Amino acid sequence: MARTVLVTGAGRGLGRELAWQYATGGWQVIACGRSRPVHGTETGIEFQPLEVADPASISALAARLTGRPLDVLVNNAGVRSPLSGLDRLQPEEFLDVLRINTLGPLLLTRALRANLRLGSSPVVANIGSRAGSMAEGLLDDDDDDYAYRCSKAALNMATVQLARDLQPDGITLLSLHPGWVKTDMGGAEAVLPVEESAKALRSIIAAAKPEYSGAFLAFDGRSVSW
Ligand code: NDP
Repeated sequence: MARTVLVTGAGRGLGRELAWQYATGGWQVIACGRSRPVHGTETGIEFQPLEVADPASISALAARLTGRPLDVLVNNAGVRSPLSGLDRLQPEEFLDVLRINTLGPLLLTRALRANLRLGSSPVVANIGSRAGSMAEGLLDDDDDDYAYRCSKAALNMATVQLARDLQPDGITLLSLHPGWVKTDMGGAEAVLPVEESAKALRSIIAAAKPEYSGAFLAFDGRSVSW
């Protein structure tokens, strides 16, 4: 039987590519997005509306998916701040980024826990960022987007706590850094084609084992320091 993956933020960028590659590989794909793709979804890809910042939207999605086994959940949807920099930081904008990048993945994972329990060797992949690493984030990156960095650091903690809480269900959690990827977010100067990043992330997810649950890995398989 085909395995099932759910990808958030699947309308463009990395999420879209992941959905496409999984579908091409024979997976059943549930592609979630804020709006239905203008040109419809590719063959074999099911669209489900999801606004990850809205707990009601998450609950409604979980209700629609009741009883359906889920093998992989990719919490991919993410945003940066409209304006970065300490002086331009706005409290509500900061919290909006955390709602999308941190709270959304946490609530969605909780909401789909029963589906993951029905899956085989279930994995939750939280797409994080090296920008959220306290040890590595500032080494060669002068980004000053406080909300983005904080949201991804907090997502790492959510990954670790979820790894412990979902361990009895056999659900493996990963935080994944996709590299600097050529997408709307990564920009044209990014070094990694989206196809390569998605392919690498799929390999890591496929190789995930319960004993590594809670790990923070880069697209090239390297362990990223917290
Ligand atoms: P893009 O900006 O290209 O795409 C972001 C996706 O997230 C879109 O599909 C967008 O949907 C969706 N999204 C944003 N907000 C919401 C929301 N509130 N509810 C539902 N969906 C939402 O980003 P990337 O593809 O580059 O990034 C994917 C992930 O990878 C993100 O988590 C990002 O932080 C992470 N990452 C990316 C890097 C890069 O270099 N690109 C580097 C490190 C990490 P919509 O079309 O509706 O806006």
